[in-house]
Amino acid sequence: MPTSNDMQKVLDIQDKNIIFKDNCVTYGVFKDRKCKFIDCTLSYTPMECKKCQIPNHDYTIYKNGTQTSRVTFPMSEITPTFLRIKKQRFMCKACKETFTAQTPLVNNNCFISTYIKAHIITKSADACSIKDIAKETNVSEATVQRVITKEAKRYRPYYQSLPKHMSFDEFKYASGRMAFEYINAQTGDILDILPAKDSRFVKKHFTSNYSLRQRERVETVTVDMNASYVSFIPDLFPKAHIIIDRFHIVQLVNQSMNRTRVKVMNQFNTSNGEDLKKYRRLKHYWKKMLKKERKRVILYDI
Ligand SMILES: [Zn+2]
Repeated sequence: MPTSNDMQKVLDIQDKNIIFKDNCVTYGVFKDRKCKFIDCTLSYTPMECKKCQIPNHDYTIYKNGTQTSRVTFPMSEITPTFLRIKKQRFMCKACKETFTAQTPLVNNNCFISTYIKAHIITKSADACSIKDIAKETNVSEATVQRVITKEAKRYRPYYQSLPKHMSFDEFKYASGRMAFEYINAQTGDILDILPAKDSRFVKKHFTSNYSLRQRERVETVTVDMNASYVSFIPDLFPKAHIIIDRFHIVQLVNQSMNRTRVKVMNQFNTSNGEDLKKYRRLKHYWKKMLKKERKRVILYDI
């Protein structure tokens, strides 16, 4: 049988006040899913009262029952794992108030372990969707969003210098709104993400956080074909050249090719059998039209 110490090591729990007994791992059902429960107790002799701060001398504070909380723990394999902590309750003789034992493993009145929160933050730095993080950490998507938002509020971007080569981009986020991001084009590091992409907002961000001297050091700004950026870049970065991202050029060519193909194709959508053959070829082999010329197989003579 593993000792309590072994269990602490396996679960990476540093709090020595959390004690595991024999046969502490059981299987059960929670929210219609099979899951694993690990039972443990949390107890210690408090130094002072959490409510009135009176020092604990001569049993000023005595043990007064327990309270069990179920805490979501980082998942092992595919079975959701919960730590069932039987927390010691204390009663203070001085103020007649009660309070519960605390552990750094989980915040008060919270059912998500700090490990899960750390895991969410680490995962959010990767290109990982909220849905995937929620699945992996066995918490709801709303919880993942809440943890990230809370952490993001603590983070204050350090606006001091801009790289010589920047790239602007935009992407869709919550409820279909668009965000703006600017990136160090050489390293790929995201410098900041703004909650809106309208030119007034973006301009204000750069003018209020970076001096003109800093902005003058920018040599190139890579953008997609969004005309609104192109119009204000010379004002913000007077010495920067604007580069249109080749990805967006290729994308535009692709879209134009497709549109033309559909236009031609529809002309063959008649009751004539020969026309319909051509129509089907144009419809079926649409990918071939987008390939490089030497890779294309000739589509007969249409
Ligand atoms: Zn007290």
